[in-house]
Amino acid sequence: MTTEAVIQINYTPGILVVDDEVRIREACRLVLEDCGYEVTLADNGAKGLELIREQHFDIILLDLMMPELSGFDVLAQIKAQHPDTVVIVITGYATLEHSVDAMKKGAFDFIPKPFTPEHLRVTIAKAIDYTRTLRDITDTRSRLRTLVNRISDGVMCTNHEHRVVLANPAFLRMIGCGAESVIGSCINDFMNIFRIREMINDALVLNDSCADELTEEIPVKGYGQSEELILNVRCAPFRDRSGRNIGVITVLHDITALKKIDRMKSEFVSMVSHEIRNPMNSVLMQIHVLLAGLAGDLTEQQREILTRAHLKIENLSRMTTELLDLARIESGLITLERESVSMSDLIRDQAAFQLPMAASASVEMVIDVPETLPPVLANRRNMEEVLSNLITNAIKYSPGGGLVTVSATVVNDYLCIRVKDTGMGISDEDQSRIFHRFYRVKDEKTRYINGTGLGLSIVKSIIESHQGQIKLESKKGAGSTFSVFLPILNG
Ligand code: ADP
Repeated sequence: MTTEAVIQINYTPGILVVDDEVRIREACRLVLEDCGYEVTLADNGAKGLELIREQHFDIILLDLMMPELSGFDVLAQIKAQHPDTVVIVITGYATLEHSVDAMKKGAFDFIPKPFTPEHLRVTIAKAIDYTRTLRDITDTRSRLRTLVNRISDGVMCTNHEHRVVLANPAFLRMIGCGAESVIGSCINDFMNIFRIREMINDALVLNDSCADELTEEIPVKGYGQSEELILNVRCAPFRDRSGRNIGVITVLHDITALKKIDRMKSEFVSMVSHEIRNPMNSVLMQIHVLLAGLAGDLTEQQREILTRAHLKIENLSRMTTELLDLARIESGLITLERESVSMSDLIRDQAAFQLPMAASASVEMVIDVPETLPPVLANRRNMEEVLSNLITNAIKYSPGGGLVTVSATVVNDYLCIRVKDTGMGISDEDQSRIFHRFYRVKDEKTRYINGTGLGLSIVKSIIESHQGQIKLESKKGAGSTFSVFLPILNG
């Protein structure tokens, strides 16, 4: 059962027959009531109009040739007052020309006299189908309008000329527009958020092979609001039957509160990490003192216990430092200090730094980086952290030894740095999860490899705060390639 069918149950169409001939009126009533319709009769035009004013009829069967008020006059008045009402005219043989004339003036169809019951039934059934479709469209439109106007997200629909077809009050409020309605206006006339205009332009030329929508977080000043709002903006093109883009739906979701909570969470994590780092370091120092024998000799068992405790606390201390870093990156503190960084030296330095670790893990390391690369605008320390994390992982997750290749190339306006390994690889389902905080793949192979599960989320946060992207290609058991894309300075 369709949605429309669910909503429109038990509806009996109403038909009005306006004809001065009693024979015709009664014949129509017999046939149509037999079909289950509700039939009302009028013996002249004036009476018919009076009934139409009082109640709604789905279909009006109208005789053109009536004394006094002619069918043409009645038709004109119906069309003026109820343009959607379906009128079928009843005509004599000699007045076919009139029927055509009536159709031109808005009649839906005509039935020449004399007609058979079957002819009447078929014509009425066709008209009922038409009114049903018309009603469905009207109902759907009304439901859609109410729905769109009620939801708290901002919704706007624009056509291929960027004119507004629909915009709900929430949308206008969020973009800071005080107008009551903007239907028919061009977006340039009322939308002063340049980036949203750009996104709508870009969405209109999106094709099937690229993304099906554009998404971005944009800070804006809402209407009548003193504080800045942060909006999640999504623009998706919609297509006609031949697949051509004919407009764009823009949806705004206010994420200001979420962002605020996220910032508070980062601040809290940052505060806690900071507070527990100091006592943890002093515990480490004290264990160190014990292990060094400065507080007396240790038995073999005591030394073993203390070494294990030392390792655990060292791990905990690393995790707190990484949490602190992540919180700082997320609050935008670290990446504020940026400079033009020449990545070829930085990559070589970082790779050289990891050589001893690679050697002890029987991993061969190849650096394939040109002498000079275009500079990127970045925070040097962040970039070191990205490379160090990716290279350490490549070595760490190649437990039986292997080959790690670090390369860099220019791809369009981006510098692409690749860290490729021949290690254990990552399954399809883990590939998106490994960038989440604390996520670690748990299996027989990773069991004995130490880590916090924070490295890749730090890498991702850093890259994204540098307007870059990180991509992963991997196959379980067949190695991984992490590719980092960073926008080239003045690229
Ligand atoms: P950590 O290494 O501290 O566990 P990361 O955030 O750096 O945390 O990595 C998350 C998880 O992703 C790791 O636990 C590991 O399972 C997987 N992983 C990361 N890099 C690689 C790699 N090069 N090869 C295979 N698995 C990897």
